[in-house]
Amino acid sequence: MILHIDMDAFYASVEQLDNAGLRGKCVIVGGTSNRGVVSAASYEARKYGVHSAMPVFQARRRCPQGIFIPPRMARYKEVSTKIMSILRQYTPLVEPVSIDEAYMDIAGCEKLYGGAEATAVDIKRKIRESVHLTCSIGVAPIKFLAKIASGMNKPDGLTVIAPEVMQRFIDDLAIGKVPGVGEMTHKKLDAMGIKTLGDVKRFPPEVLIKRLGKFGTRLVNLSAGIDTSPVIPTSEHKSVSSEQTLEKDTRDKALLNEYLLKHAEDVARQIRKSGMKAKTITIKVKHSDFKQATRSITIASPTQSSKIIYQKAKQLLEAYPIKKKVRLIGVGVSGLVSKDSPVQLSLFEMNEPDHNKWEKVDRAVDSIQNKFGKTAVSRASLKEPQQKYEFSRSPLRGL
Ligand SMILES: [Mg+2]
Repeated sequence: MILHIDMDAFYASVEQLDNAGLRGKCVIVGGTSNRGVVSAASYEARKYGVHSAMPVFQARRRCPQGIFIPPRMARYKEVSTKIMSILRQYTPLVEPVSIDEAYMDIAGCEKLYGGAEATAVDIKRKIRESVHLTCSIGVAPIKFLAKIASGMNKPDGLTVIAPEVMQRFIDDLAIGKVPGVGEMTHKKLDAMGIKTLGDVKRFPPEVLIKRLGKFGTRLVNLSAGIDTSPVIPTSEHKSVSSEQTLEKDTRDKALLNEYLLKHAEDVARQIRKSGMKAKTITIKVKHSDFKQATRSITIASPTQSSKIIYQKAKQLLEAYPIKKKVRLIGVGVSGLVSKDSPVQLSLFEMNEPDHNKWEKVDRAVDSIQNKFGKTAVSRASLKEPQQKYEFSRSPLRGL
């Protein structure tokens, strides 16, 4: 099954999230001059007929009490990155189509959650818990229907088009809703008496192809429930990071190292899952006065090893003088390359006796975590010489 995830009124929702005073109000994000257009409108503003792409002067007329805000792209991008990395925890087959939208092919991970719908429920929960925003998800056997489904019950919607009802759904689908049917095409189809996608089947394919060209072929296929477009995972994420605001500000290095370990494992696991290796490791430290610093190191041979990423992060922290208490700490990796791209092992690594052993350990941890969840096994410490593992009680007993 294919999932289409679409954040609800994304820019406006982020503004309402960051500023409690905006919640429940008509928030309109867009160019603030009257010549600008609306990028996003909160659901409160939509009630007044404000929608994206509408000129701002018109939005002002329809919704005079609206609060107009210029977009903060960097912030939206930051939230988007978090959302996409949540999606990639389920499968590497994630195709972001815009800052707030993505397709996922969840073949193989459905069993883990008890079906496609349950997976979608879990994704919605995880997004809500980690970024405090709602999304709408469409679930369908093919891509274009997943997209249509996600738009059907907004906001906070979940719409499933099961394989058994797919054909009936297609037959009744208003032709104007089919992606690619613009104004011109709509007129042509209307003139042929085609009101629904099902109506397409009343015409021989040649007729449609003659009138609509290549798009005619696409419509014929779609009307038969055939959409061969695959979910193409774009590794457009040129970096992966994991960070958190601490419960209490601290300058305790041992404690900070524990957080580094957790985040190093998290990013390492993510890049292993998407088949990547990283060349650059970065730590981010934000202080109690909100000043922040980053420190990076680039290594000779790209890695996906939790141990190496942690060691480098730890070295970076060691060299960083902590003068003020820390409120947030994180680890990031960038300079990502495919794990199969030819890499020359450094002499150090070739001579390191436990290099392969650690790769095996990473693989074992990944497979346990994939089956039983992240908390099933966690490293107590990556300190040499002993590698201790802490196994949690319940799910592993049966192994
Ligand atoms: Mg959206």
